[in-house]
Amino acid sequence: MNTLVFTVSDPRDPALQTVGEILRRGGLAAIPTETVYGLAANALDDEAVRGIFRAKGRPADNPLIVHISDLSQWAPLVLDIPAQAKQLADAFWPGPLTVILPKSDRVSSVVSGGLSTVAVRMPSHPVARAIIDSAGVPLAAPSANTSGKPSPTTAQHVKDDMDSKIDCIVDAGPCSVGVESTVLSLAGDKPRLLRPGGVTPAMLERVLGEIDIDDAVYHQLAAGKTAASPGMKYKHYAPKAQVTILKGSFAQFCDYVESHKTPDTLALCFDGEEALLSVPAIAFGKESDGKSQAANIFAALRDVDRRGAGQVFARFPKMDGVGLAVFNRLVRAAAFHIVEL
Ligand code: AMP
Ligand code: MG
Repeated sequence: MNTLVFTVSDPRDPALQTVGEILRRGGLAAIPTETVYGLAANALDDEAVRGIFRAKGRPADNPLIVHISDLSQWAPLVLDIPAQAKQLADAFWPGPLTVILPKSDRVSSVVSGGLSTVAVRMPSHPVARAIIDSAGVPLAAPSANTSGKPSPTTAQHVKDDMDSKIDCIVDAGPCSVGVESTVLSLAGDKPRLLRPGGVTPAMLERVLGEIDIDDAVYHQLAAGKTAASPGMKYKHYAPKAQVTILKGSFAQFCDYVESHKTPDTLALCFDGEEALLSVPAIAFGKESDGKSQAANIFAALRDVDRRGAGQVFARFPKMDGVGLAVFNRLVRAAAFHIVEL
């Protein structure tokens, strides 16, 4: 399949009508959002949605997030929209928050990965919204990477994984948030954070009061335990190299790297530290700025492979605010391998 690339800066670009048509007739389009690039298909067309799983190599039990551009598209997808869900939509939509509720019959088990719930989000990226409008249907859209690889934050990342597997890629430049949406379940007794993202726990608690944070946000799922979010049980975001996170000061980091380095060692460090290290290094943001780390972490993890690293030592990000999302992705890329210095 020849994958078309549309470069778009204006949400009124006529090319987006073509993208809408591709989606309406069951095609696959990689689309920019404020979080990461998504691989979109008509959420109401099972055959189209199966195409997403095939192109990504995604396990069928890992459900997809349904993207809407207008609040009126939400009610038909769910059994009910409770008061807390409305408050969240008021506060954070459009934006990087996904809300899980019991699903209606209109959402097939292909989208929900066999679960009785559905995850819905209204993105804020003007091009994403224009594409949903133009398709005229809600769009199922996971991250547009090959399953297991770091999520794509540029159209080139998408091309590297999806060229010739999908109908088109819409290139609108790099994603601003850089990590996938916050996933919050309202399907249980108490709101539960399943995946941290651009909307932080503190922001959610300002609207909802206390929320639960699922264990899988911090820790590896214990053997035999069922994942609240099926995506959490799979290997994720991993470069080919073995990644180890080193928890300690920068001086301790430098000492550890110096005494453990091999010819193919690379460091994932904070901005400005590169020149102070004795091995090649890729910076993934400012030390005290979780937002800048979120914007860069996936590109940095992809660069690790491009540079042919075998062993990677990474700095430990602060776990407050958006930093929790950065930690959550990096610790999975490291297969939960952390050394306390
Ligand atoms: P991605 O599509 O790559 O952003 O991943 C979507 C994430 O949301 C995965 O971790 C899924 O397991 C999770 N997810 C989607 N729908 C549901 C649902 N109904 N219940 C729990 N987790 C979900
Ligand atoms: Mg993903």
